[in-house]
Amino acid sequence: MSDSVRLRFAPSPTGALHIGGIRTALYNFLLARKLGGKFILRIEDTDRTRYVEGAEDYIVRSLEWLGLLPDESPQRGGPFGPYRQSERMHIYRQYAEQLVAAGKAYYAFDTPEAIEQLRSRDNRQYDATTRMKMVNSLTMTEAEWAEARKDNRPHVIRLKVPEGEKVVIRDVIRGEVQFDTSTLDDKVLIKSDGMPTYHMANVVDDRLMQITHVIRGDEWLPSTAHHALLYAAFGWEDQMPAFAHLPLILKPTGNGKLSKRDGVQFGFPVFPIDWQQPDGTRFPGFREWGFEPDAMINFLALLGWNPGTDRELFSLEELIGAFSLEKIVKSGARFDFEKCKWFNQQYLLHADAATLCHRIERDFAHRGFELTEAQAETIVQLYRERVVYFKDFFEQAAGYFLPAVQCDAGYIEKRFRSGWVPLLVQLQVGAAAWANWDPATLEGNVKEFAGHAGIKPGEFFPLLRVVMVGSPTGPDLFRMIAFMGKERFLLRIAQFIESHKDLQAG
Ligand code: GLU
Repeated sequence: MSDSVRLRFAPSPTGALHIGGIRTALYNFLLARKLGGKFILRIEDTDRTRYVEGAEDYIVRSLEWLGLLPDESPQRGGPFGPYRQSERMHIYRQYAEQLVAAGKAYYAFDTPEAIEQLRSRDNRQYDATTRMKMVNSLTMTEAEWAEARKDNRPHVIRLKVPEGEKVVIRDVIRGEVQFDTSTLDDKVLIKSDGMPTYHMANVVDDRLMQITHVIRGDEWLPSTAHHALLYAAFGWEDQMPAFAHLPLILKPTGNGKLSKRDGVQFGFPVFPIDWQQPDGTRFPGFREWGFEPDAMINFLALLGWNPGTDRELFSLEELIGAFSLEKIVKSGARFDFEKCKWFNQQYLLHADAATLCHRIERDFAHRGFELTEAQAETIVQLYRERVVYFKDFFEQAAGYFLPAVQCDAGYIEKRFRSGWVPLLVQLQVGAAAWANWDPATLEGNVKEFAGHAGIKPGEFFPLLRVVMVGSPTGPDLFRMIAFMGKERFLLRIAQFIESHKDLQAG
C-alpha cells in the first residue's frame, strides 16, 4: 500500500468518451484503489483544433455516473494542479527550452512547403538523416538563428532523436517492445502556435504529477518510444512510469476496432451517457438504455481482463481486490452486447430487495402511480427474474395499475376465438363468488373453472394474462391474479368483454 502510487486517466476533450475510454479509466481506477494510491483525471486539451465544447463536462459526468471519482481533477483540484493542460501552458515551453539548452532539442524554422516536400516528394521523415538539410538551429549560424528569433519567425521545437539506438520499453501487458531510433522522427514538441504537442505535454505532466503507472489504449504504444526518449533527454529515466497498453475492444463480429458507428449499425450504445454531437445527432448512452452503473463496471472490467477463474460477477470492491495488470489479456476483446445485458440482468436479480423496492416506488411515483411498500415488494418478487433493465419493472407491471390495458394486438389477431367472450362472461359470474384471493385458492378455482368450461390451460392462462395486463406472457398466473385483486380482475374481464364482443374469430 502506498500513497505514492499515482495513476491518471488523461482523455482529450475531442468528443464523447466511448466505452474504450471508460474501460481505460476503470483499469486506472481499479489499480489505484488496489495499491492504495491516487486516481487522477487530467484533461489533455492542448489541441484546440480538435476541442469539442462540452466534452470535458461529459467526461466528468460519465465518471460520476459510474462512481469512478478521481482524487485529483480540474473540478476537485489537488496538490499537482492545474489538471487541465490548457492551464499549464507556461510549463511546457520552459521544459522544451531546457532540452534545447541541453542539446536534446532544437528550433526548426522550415516552411510548411519544405516539410511537405520532404514528406511527399522525397518520401523522407524529419530525422537524423535529413535534419542537417533543413532550416533549424542546428544548421543555421549563430547569427542567423539570433536574427530568426529576433524577428519572431514562426518555428517549432523538435526533439533531437539520437541516431542508431534502441529504445526498449517494458510493457506490463506486451512484454518487451523495442524500437530502433532510425525509424523515429524528430517529433515536434512545441508547435508553431506555441502549443505543446501531446507527447510533450503528456510526458512533462506525467513526471510533474509523479505518475507511477500509465495504463492506456494500445494505439499509444508507438508513441511510447518518443516518450521514453523524452524521459531520457530530461534525465528522468529512473522515474519512468510502468506502462501497460490495453488491448483493443473489437466489433461484435470480432474483426476491427469497435467504433461509434458500430453502435448505430448493430443497435447498441457505445457511449456511457447521452451524447449530443455538435451537429445535433444524439446518441443515447448505456445509462439511457437502462444499464446499471455497477453492471457496466463489471462488464467492462471483464472486457480485456481475466480474473483467472470462471467467476463473472464481481462487486466494485471485489474487482479492486482481484484486479491485476498481469491478467490483462493480450489479444483484442470482442464487444458482446448480449453479455452486457446479461450482466445487467444479473445485477437486478441479485440486487438488494429493499433498495430495489424503494427504487420501484420512486419510479412508479414519478410516473404517477403511488405504490404501497407491499405492492413494490410483490413487483420485485414477480418480475425480478424477468427484467433486463430496471425500467422493465414498470413496463411489465404497469398493466396492473393503469385504468385499462391495451391487449397485445398480434396475439388477438392470431389467436382470438369468438368462444372467449361467453367464456369470460361465465368467468365473471364465477369469480365474483370466489371468496379467498390467495394464489393457492385461486389456482384451484381457475383450474376447476377451465376444466368445466373445457378450455385447455395452454390456451386459457395466456388469455387471462392478456385480459389482465395486456400480454400473454408473464410470471405465475395465480400470483398475478392475487396481486391484481378481485375488484380489478373483474373490471379487466368486463373491459375485455366490452371491447371484444363484436370481434369475429379470424
Ligand atoms: N490524451 C490522450 C488520449 O486522449 C492520452 C493518452 C495517454 O493516456 O497517454 O487518449
